[in-house]
Amino acid sequence: MSGSEKKEQSLIFELSKPGRIAYSLPECDVPETELTDLIPATYLRSKPAELPEVYEVDVIRHYTALSRRNFGVDNGFYPLGSCTMKYNPKLNEDTASLDGFAKIHPYQLEASIQGALELMYRLQEDLAALTGMDRVTLQPAAGAHGEWTGLMMIRAFHEKNGETGRRKIIVPDSSHGTNPASASSAGFETVTIKSDARGLVDLEALKAAVGSDTAALMLTNPNTLGLFEEQIAEIAEIVHGAGGLLYYDGANSNAIMGIARPGDMGFDVVHLNLHKTMSTPHGGGGPGAGPVGVKMKLAPFLPAPTVAKLSDGTYAFDKGSEDSIGRVKAYYGNFGILVRAYTYIRSYGPEGLKAVSEQAVLNANYMRKRLEPYFRTPYPRICKHEFVLSGSGLLQYGVRTLDVAKRLLDFGYHPPTIYFPLNVEECLMIEPTETESKETLDGFIDTLIRIVEEASHDPELLLGAPHGASVKRLDETQAARKPVLNCSCG
Ligand SMILES: *Cc1c(COP(=O)(O)O)cnc(C)c1O
Repeated sequence: MSGSEKKEQSLIFELSKPGRIAYSLPECDVPETELTDLIPATYLRSKPAELPEVYEVDVIRHYTALSRRNFGVDNGFYPLGSCTMKYNPKLNEDTASLDGFAKIHPYQLEASIQGALELMYRLQEDLAALTGMDRVTLQPAAGAHGEWTGLMMIRAFHEKNGETGRRKIIVPDSSHGTNPASASSAGFETVTIKSDARGLVDLEALKAAVGSDTAALMLTNPNTLGLFEEQIAEIAEIVHGAGGLLYYDGANSNAIMGIARPGDMGFDVVHLNLHKTMSTPHGGGGPGAGPVGVKMKLAPFLPAPTVAKLSDGTYAFDKGSEDSIGRVKAYYGNFGILVRAYTYIRSYGPEGLKAVSEQAVLNANYMRKRLEPYFRTPYPRICKHEFVLSGSGLLQYGVRTLDVAKRLLDFGYHPPTIYFPLNVEECLMIEPTETESKETLDGFIDTLIRIVEEASHDPELLLGAPHGASVKRLDETQAARKPVLNCSCG
């Protein structure tokens, strides 16, 4: 880090000088209320909080410096596999901040929010058309929430049919961690089946796993290895033949939009991550949106309300059937995110969305081909929107994939996902998305190649990385579970 940057990052407590203030208020010209009249004394501080005494400009510089330590898709390439981190078009922000969308209240009368209802209705229709489903709920706030919602509908469906013994959800070993987690939250037991040597569902293992206790198979296609499950029609037949349903984890639909539809592949339930495929921001863990689409046989179980178009052309909330699993979120979903996603879909249009998928797949295959000579490739075949490499060839130098990821930080890149999927040793999982230029892709590829070369000549360089970031290696588990957020961490 350069000297000037260091200076900029001096901690605000170090700048504190008694008596300095960042604001001044006019003299109070109304009678002052005793604080204890408003708040019971037990809740009041006994002495003032120890805040730094600084000028306004110091505060601004402090927070601006902190914000610059953040990495986001607006300041660098973010090739995060299985978590589509695509550019968030600013047009989406413009529409979401229109007064008619931003300033409405969930308790307003339907007649006064017809535009918002129409947008939600159209989004339901567009998502149904894109996925090949019959009905859609926009309520779930995230992908995992969508999974749970879909599984609760599957559970209600089997129970309604008197099949209470269907308690098992089958997932492949490459599945996203949220799949088994959602299955247990919805009261199911998870059965994991191994992938075959090609990285696809092993049909024999699937046949052995299905039975009268199968509630559903959860699958993503292309799967998390970025590979298309070519035998999807047979897979659907096996699961349906055993009386189970097919759940499609569509968190990352960037490879198939406008090209293939889960509904046509035989899936009964689909969730989409609007904060991935539809370009809405991931935010700091939210707000997101994980709408769920279902085939007609599951429609009675949808969370209520959805939005309906009435015969007179107006829009209204549909309170749903008595079999509805109920509401899964306060109000109607993360509405601002729905506006952004609708903007994205409409600004591209059907042909544009197809072009997005084609470009995403092309970018991934270009990177895969250029990187193949430098990494082990467990599945050296055409991929979809993402692909996996293995850094196991670097173990001979004492270097792990984690070290490669940390070294990438020194070059200003967000590292790709590592150690997932679990069935690939020393895994690196890369998803470039469609919006990156060839120059950006080449820059990242050249950097990865340079790092592989460093690993053989100077492994210490990787083991000590990052060298230029504002913090060294963190304990990743503790950093998420017990973050130290005060200034004393230095
Ligand atoms: C991101 C992701 C999820 C979970 O979505 P969240 O919005 O993070 O809950 C589920 N499945 C796959 C394949 C994903 O990539």
